[in-house]
Amino acid sequence: RIVYVNGEYLPEEEATVSIFDRAFLMGDGVYEVTSVLGGKLIDFDGHAKRLARSLSELDMAEPCTMDELLQIHRELVARNEITDGLVYLQVSRGSAGDRDFVFPDPEVVKPTLVLFTQNKPGLDKDPKALKGTKIITVPDIRWHRRDIKTVQLLYPSMAKMMAKKAGCDDAWLVEDGFITEGSSNNAYIVKGNKIITRELSNDILHGITRAAVLRFAAEAQYEVEERNFTPEEATQADEAFTTSASAFVMPVVEIDGVTLGDGTPGSVSLRLREIYLDEMKKAAV
Ligand code: PLP
Repeated sequence: RIVYVNGEYLPEEEATVSIFDRAFLMGDGVYEVTSVLGGKLIDFDGHAKRLARSLSELDMAEPCTMDELLQIHRELVARNEITDGLVYLQVSRGSAGDRDFVFPDPEVVKPTLVLFTQNKPGLDKDPKALKGTKIITVPDIRWHRRDIKTVQLLYPSMAKMMAKKAGCDDAWLVEDGFITEGSSNNAYIVKGNKIITRELSNDILHGITRAAVLRFAAEAQYEVEERNFTPEEATQADEAFTTSASAFVMPVVEIDGVTLGDGTPGSVSLRLREIYLDEMKKAAV
């Protein structure tokens, strides 16, 4: 696999980053994951804009222009012959050659930019989408700037491990009695014609897939309600699903051991998945 590090395309074995890099020592970095379908990038623009916002919220410099980023994405997809898969991008505050809590001077220390691809043939045909996923709820003990897409993913990893140990696929996080979001996705419930998902704030990541799906849902005449909901309300819903750039719209069929509906993916979830994939493939770059 060819990867990108700070201006260079290299075989992955030859790519290196300093042990003093602040992403490594401090979790001082942000990332984006963009999916590739049919060799093209899905919603690149959305990811580029959110990256710029994450960097700005952390007073980090942009490593290059967004046009250059698009070119790097395309070059990696081409060099690695990716038809379906993902492009992972990470920007960290770089390496000051020592360990220090204080941010280094951005005039002196340049950000580290790393990108790599993950080949995932048939990414949009995951059989899980037809079977549905099982969710457990766990406490949300993350920091309070979840709107910034940082590489601090230890707790989401722990939440996924808790789900796995419970024989489930993923975890939804609960704070003050309400679901915030999934460990690596946004969370939704469906009641009749109504799609309910938590409103945007610093409590959740502003999902790029969320924005597109809510737009398509409104266009398809579903009612969209952006509000808090509890795990109890979720277990009584007709359907539930999650959204993320890598899994698109993923139906949920069980929450905390309670089966939703007849235990198969709901029609609204499946329809939104289909619309999302159709429309986003058409708009892919
Ligand atoms: N929420 C969290 C915590 C995430 O990690 C992610 C994706 O990684 C999402 C939501 C979904 O965001 P997106 O649709 O932009 O992938």
